[in-house]
Amino acid sequence: MFALSEEHRQIQDLAREFAREHVAPGAAARDKSGAFPADVVQQLGELGFLGMFVPQDLGGAGLDVLSYVLALEEVCYADASVGVIMSVQNSLAGWPILAFGTDEQKAKWLTPLATGERIGCYALTEPMAGSDAGAQQTRATPVDGGYRLDGAKMWITNGPQAGICVTYANLDVASRHKGVCAFIVDTTTPGFRVGKIEEKLGLHASGTCELVYENLFVPKEQLLHAERQGFQVAMATLDGGRIGIAAQSLGIAQRCLDLAVAYAKERKAFGKAIAEQQAIQWKIADMRCRIEAARLLTWRAAWLKGQGDRASAECSMAKLMASETANFCAYEALQIFGGYGFSKEYEVERLYRDARITTLYEGTSEIQRLVIARSTIG
Ligand SMILES: Cc1cc2nc3c(=O)[nH]c(=O)nc-3n(C[C@H](O)[C@H](O)[C@H](O)COP(=O)(O)OP(=O)(O)OC[C@H]3O[C@@H](n4cnc5c(N)ncnc54)[C@H](O)[C@@H]3O)c2cc1C
Repeated sequence: MFALSEEHRQIQDLAREFAREHVAPGAAARDKSGAFPADVVQQLGELGFLGMFVPQDLGGAGLDVLSYVLALEEVCYADASVGVIMSVQNSLAGWPILAFGTDEQKAKWLTPLATGERIGCYALTEPMAGSDAGAQQTRATPVDGGYRLDGAKMWITNGPQAGICVTYANLDVASRHKGVCAFIVDTTTPGFRVGKIEEKLGLHASGTCELVYENLFVPKEQLLHAERQGFQVAMATLDGGRIGIAAQSLGIAQRCLDLAVAYAKERKAFGKAIAEQQAIQWKIADMRCRIEAARLLTWRAAWLKGQGDRASAECSMAKLMASETANFCAYEALQIFGGYGFSKEYEVERLYRDARITTLYEGTSEIQRLVIARSTIG
C-alpha cells in the first residue's frame, strides 16, 4: 500500500498531464463566469474518467477505486468544480446502478454515463432532509406499471445539466427511511423540472439546483434494487462518494501547498525570502503532514472499498481528515500570501472558497464523526 503499482502510476500521470494542460487553464475564467465546462467534460468522457468503474464492455474504463481517487485528485488540483462533476458522475450516479442495478439497467444507463453522453446526478437532499436524510418527503405512489413521483429536491450537483438522475422517494413518509426507494429517472420525462439554480460561495462552474417532480411516471423497470431498499442504496453510495470528496479535498490542499511554497520562496520581507522565516516553515510542514496523512487514509479507504468492503468508517475518516485538511491548507496558504491572497488575481482566493464546501456536502464533518464514533463505540 505504500507504493503505487505501475498501472496506478500511469493513471496518475495521465490524469496529471491532462488536468494541467486542459483543465487548469480555464479554471479562473469559469470561476468568474460560472459556465459549465462542457468541452472539458466531453474530454473526460473520452479519457474514460466519467465511467472509471464501469466495465469496458459497457463503455467504461473498468478500473478500481484507487485509480479513480488518483485521477480525481489531479483533476481537482486543476479545478475542483470540474472535479465534483466527475465525482458525482462516477460515485453518485454510475456506482449505485453498477452495484444495485439489474443487467438490463446496467446495459441501458451506464454507457451514456461512462461516455459523458448524458450527465448524471444524485437527488437525495430535500429542504427538510439534509443530514437527516431519512426524513424524505418526496412521495412515490405505486400505479399501474410503475410509480408516480411528487416532491422537490435541493442542492443537486449536476442537476441543471443532468440527463439521468438517481432519485430517492418515499413510499410511506411516516416510516421514514424504511419506506425509501431509489429510482433511475430520465430527466426528459414529463413532470421533471429544474427549479432554482443556486448561487454559491465556490465551485462556480459546477451547477447546483433544485429539482421538481410533478406527477412524474417512472416505469417499474427503473426501480433500483428493491422497494423500500432505497435508503441502503443511498448510504452505500455515499460511502464511495465520500472517498471522492476526500480526493477532491486532497487536490485542493496540495495545490494550496504548492502555491504557498512557491510564493514563500519568492516573496521577500525584512531582507530575505519569507520561506526563511521559521513561522512560515512550520505552516508548510503542518500542511504537508496533514495532506500526507489524509492521502494515506483516502488510499486505504479506496483500497478497502475496492475489495468489496463497505468500509463506512474508513470512508468517513478519509473524508473528515481530507476536507478539514483542505480548509486548513487554504487558510494557511492565504495567510502566507498575505494581502495578495485576498485578491481575486491570485488562485488561492478561489481555492479558499472552493475548499469550504468539502466539510459540508456528502455528510458534514459532524455527521462523519457520528459514523466514526458509532463504529468505534458500537
Ligand atoms: C454545493 C452543494 C452541493 C450539493 N450536492 C448534493 C447532491 O448532488 N445531492 C444531494 O442529495 N445533496 C447535495 N448537497 C446537500 C448536502 O449533502 C447537504 O447540504 C448536507 O448533507 C447537509 O445538510 P443540510 O444543508 O440540510 O444541513 P443540516 O442537516 O440542516 O445541518 C446543519 C448543521 O447541523 C449539524 N447537524 C445536523 N444533524 C446533526 C447531528 N445529528 N449531530 C451533530 N450535528 C448535526 C450539521 O453538521 C450542520 O453543521 C449539496 C450541498 C451543497 C451546498
